[in-house]
Amino acid sequence: MLSEFDLIQEYFQRPRHPARATLGIGDDCALLTPTPGMQTAISSDMLVEGRHFFAGEDAARLGHKALAVNLSDLAAMGARPVGFTLALALPSADRDWLAGFSHGMFALADAHDIELIGGDTTKGPLTICITVFGEVRPGQALRRSGARAGDDIWISGTLGDARLALGGYRLELSMDAASLQAAAVRLHTPTPRVALGMLLAQQGLASSAIDISDGLVGDLGHILKQSGVGATLDLDALPAGAVLVTRDAAMRRAYTAAGGDDYELCFTAPASARADVLAAAASVATPVTRVGSIEAAPGLRLVDAAGAALDLQLESFDHFTS
Ligand code: ADP
Ligand code: MG
Repeated sequence: MLSEFDLIQEYFQRPRHPARATLGIGDDCALLTPTPGMQTAISSDMLVEGRHFFAGEDAARLGHKALAVNLSDLAAMGARPVGFTLALALPSADRDWLAGFSHGMFALADAHDIELIGGDTTKGPLTICITVFGEVRPGQALRRSGARAGDDIWISGTLGDARLALGGYRLELSMDAASLQAAAVRLHTPTPRVALGMLLAQQGLASSAIDISDGLVGDLGHILKQSGVGATLDLDALPAGAVLVTRDAAMRRAYTAAGGDDYELCFTAPASARADVLAAAASVATPVTRVGSIEAAPGLRLVDAAGAALDLQLESFDHFTS
């Protein structure tokens, strides 16, 4: 039988990262030495079996996603990831599951050069909670409250394929196996836009930002509310995922505007910064698309490519009403 401490040592404790002045796993607390003059950005995200992922989900993909959704929050603030903690409730100490999970999680951690510095492990229904720590220069963090009338609204990458895959799994729509598999890559292994977020913050290009986890319309709504502004969004300009792009216009509009699980960035920037935004995005190989503009009049107006108003009822995801 694998004990709690064997489990931590075998699957989560790794050789110390030479470049970081921290005390890692093994004591009552981890110690982080902040870079002088930097602010610490902190965020937690939890994944619960049956709520955020299907029972029996592949462990390596879960390891990736649990860390990716947290890194996406740091990206949305423009912070540089430094380390993370992992609180894990497991129904049993299954070696295959632990090996897969830690492999998927550490592959992404290594890609971002960050260290697992501690956590907690207990028996219980499968629940994964990661807390990430990042650094950002004072005054540079991308807040939800900074959008101003006249700003452009931008989206990184593409939207909607994760929602399309979910529809395929739930048999809400018919999909061939190859399309489902391709779309599901976006659902299972989202790409946190860390490099783009950091660059937007460092260059002072974005006036506000949020990562899209519950659907664009709802998440953009948080920016509008906290900034005290409104917006017009061109639904036909929204960049649809590679699989969703083959479906009809109604589905494209619905799933790009209110799909969820995209983990792309939605950010605003002054129109005068357009060329700089495009250059910054190109320098980190992250496509960005301009999809609307911020206006003084409150509310979100949805329009088509010709600028005609669309009257769509789009709901963003809410755990207590869904
Ligand atoms: P405590 O009893 O003080 O809560 P634990 O016995 O739970 O400490 O954990 C022992 C050490 O292992 C601590 O340093 C803790 O941060 C670390 N740890 C526990 N679970 C995990 C995990 N899932 N991932 C990483 N580190 C963990
Ligand atoms: Mg403990």
